[in-house]
Amino acid sequence: MAPSSTSVLLILLLSVVPASLASTPVSDGLELELGGDGLYREILRDETVLRLKELGKISDGEGFLERTFLSPASFRATDVIISWMKDAGLTTWVDQMGNIHGRFEPSNSTDKALLIGSHMDTVIDAGMYDGALGIICAISALKVLRVTGKLQRLTRPVEVIAFSDEEGVRFQTTFLGSAAVAGILPESILQVSDKSLYVAFNFSSGTTVQEVLRLNSFEASADALGQVKYSPESVGSYVEVHLEQGPVLEALRYPLGVVKGIAGQTRLKVIVDGSQGHAGTVPMKLRRDPMVAAAELVVTLEGLCKDPSRFLTYDEECGCFTEESLAGLVCTVGELLTWPSASNVIPGQVNFTVDIRAMDDLVRETIVASFSRIVMQRCDHRLVDCAVEHKLSRELHAFF
Ligand SMILES: [Zn+2]
Repeated sequence: MAPSSTSVLLILLLSVVPASLASTPVSDGLELELGGDGLYREILRDETVLRLKELGKISDGEGFLERTFLSPASFRATDVIISWMKDAGLTTWVDQMGNIHGRFEPSNSTDKALLIGSHMDTVIDAGMYDGALGIICAISALKVLRVTGKLQRLTRPVEVIAFSDEEGVRFQTTFLGSAAVAGILPESILQVSDKSLYVAFNFSSGTTVQEVLRLNSFEASADALGQVKYSPESVGSYVEVHLEQGPVLEALRYPLGVVKGIAGQTRLKVIVDGSQGHAGTVPMKLRRDPMVAAAELVVTLEGLCKDPSRFLTYDEECGCFTEESLAGLVCTVGELLTWPSASNVIPGQVNFTVDIRAMDDLVRETIVASFSRIVMQRCDHRLVDCAVEHKLSRELHAFF
């Protein structure tokens, strides 16, 4: 049997139990047999799957899964996750950014904590495993330790964290929850507005992170953000189980993989301004159509990222980027908004997002610069006005 993510996590957790206790028969007659049929399937498989399905139904959308930062569904999910953490024998609380914590603290321990977690928010029309798998696997693994009497024997603190925001759907800025725990969330985040069509086209200032936090009885101050931070001295390690969000492992028939690093990421917003007009009366030759210009830019981006060596010539030794440095480069336009978005109107403005990721920061930065340059050239050619805004830039984090 291929090991499940939960059983791999359980093996990891047992590494913080003294070795002499790791295979001790337990009081209820069950013995923990790693890798065999006695792998606590009732908890690690059956209950885990049931809980994944239950959490997957807690949605703000009807007929699809959507659970964004501090949405009504996220609070219903919070109640459920807290009940599961308590069932695993953990002490629970919700911090000032809406992250849920469930911790076991050994008495008299001065050791650094092992943190295990993932995100509880989702993208729009998400799968039920994304984020939820890492939270529920962690809780299941700790529950096995509780029912076998081993939780009380852990020698260092272990804490499960369900992060309130990773996807950045509501505010277009990612990692609100985990960045606060890491202490790298700037105070200015409180003034960032949520997204809507009216905000996108500057007709409304929207609702800020601070307003949404206060509406839900959080303090929403710089001090409160500071309280969420964990000092590096208090954390020994962090582990996260996550499903692969791509087809590679499945195609290779590998049940598990180990993440080598987190790709650097840049998010851009491209604004294309043209002349709004009637679809029936403005001749083709007199149009300044931002939709057609945006379409051309989207196709250009695809070409840039599919065949970057045609555009990039940086490496001083070989005169090119290496195949290795270009591996993993991916570019996506996932959102395109038009104003006024009517079938018989040539749009006045089109906005679209660009998401660029690479395992080499220099490649990513070069693609961003190249694309920004191309945007200006193509827009000049089409007589439309364009702007490229940087919404997010995160560096690569390699683990090995
Ligand atoms: Zn995820």
